[in-house]
Amino acid sequence: MKTSSDLHKHYSLLLGLIPPWLVTNVDLRMGEKLVEIDVQWPVDHDVECPECGRSCSIKDHREERRWRHLDTMQFQTIIKSRVPRSECPDHGVKTINIPWAGPNSRFTLLFERLAIDVMIAAKSIKEAARLLGLSWDQVHHIQARAVERGLVRRELDEIKNVGIDEKSFLKGHKYASLMVDIDGERILDVVEGRTLEAANSLWQKLPEEVRSGVDAVAMDMWDAFITSTKTHAPQADIVHDKFHISKYLNEAVDKVRRAEHKAFMKEDDETLKGAKYLFLKNPANMSDSEKERFKRLRMDKLKAGRAWSIKEMFSDFWTYSYQASAEKFFQRWYWWATHSGLKPMADVAKLMKRHLPNILTYLRHLITNAMMEGFNSKIQSIKANARGYRNFANYRTAILFYCGKLQLYPL
Ligand SMILES: [Zn+2]
Repeated sequence: MKTSSDLHKHYSLLLGLIPPWLVTNVDLRMGEKLVEIDVQWPVDHDVECPECGRSCSIKDHREERRWRHLDTMQFQTIIKSRVPRSECPDHGVKTINIPWAGPNSRFTLLFERLAIDVMIAAKSIKEAARLLGLSWDQVHHIQARAVERGLVRRELDEIKNVGIDEKSFLKGHKYASLMVDIDGERILDVVEGRTLEAANSLWQKLPEEVRSGVDAVAMDMWDAFITSTKTHAPQADIVHDKFHISKYLNEAVDKVRRAEHKAFMKEDDETLKGAKYLFLKNPANMSDSEKERFKRLRMDKLKAGRAWSIKEMFSDFWTYSYQASAEKFFQRWYWWATHSGLKPMADVAKLMKRHLPNILTYLRHLITNAMMEGFNSKIQSIKANARGYRNFANYRTAILFYCGKLQLYPL
């Protein structure tokens, strides 16, 4: 039979308590499936000032507080304590640090760690709250604390290549701008809107010495992003990457195909019916029958086929090693695109010509925002849960939690 003092020692070990903290009482309530553990600091033992570590006398004790700990065999486990306050000659009266929980947390460090793991696995605060038996707000609070800790610990000195991009937020009604560390494959921050102010505040989240160390910035041909980058990282090259360019080219091909299909259908000609994806698909991924149909369509001297060829031809641009040769190639391609009689293709070509110096920079830096796509499914599921995100700050917290590669754990 264990004595109660043995039992208390056993619980001290389970909680990882450091002497002289000790367990003074264990209240096991079978009916409520609850264990309450009283933890105390001996009254005759000096305490450390949390500011300077000096040994001081105890001024008094805080009112009793409770912390949720990991469940013990499905018993909810609560730690209770009246934490002493130190009286330091230099720093005055302070609540001393406790080894089982962070300041102002209602959960022990081990519980927070578990909650973080559950959130990562559950991919939603709602589901994590259900599994942990907590409210949405309590779980969100643990998430916010984890992100806060992670941001304080985050190392930024290695950042050389960043990407700026926009995302729609809350069913496309609003926009958010994101900054990613391309080499570190992590989202650095996210702000509301896609205006110049939004882009500026994104840059301002990075310390000055980090901003001035950035070599290149991948982005769309979007004035707000261009202008703020010129202001905040004037030394960096702007790179309008192939990911965005091919998006414009694909959209232009689609416009040509749609207009042509519409004209055909007026004459009951179904040549282009259901062909949309053939013109967007990479031929390497087509089935044999798709390849066959696509080949026939292109031999038909269709406008859509010509647009597609212009788009495909441009992909050679990215293979050049020298900017001068790439520029020559561009002039030839530009002439072809603008003399094709296909307005959507000519429009994209003109847009690209205006931004050509910052498209050529790709050949030197070889960076793209394609990585952003990798985050899309994660961000998508964060968005699907966005009903719970009553404000943008909560949405930002969730994005940094799942895509920030932060050190989230309390220890
Ligand atoms: Zn002190």
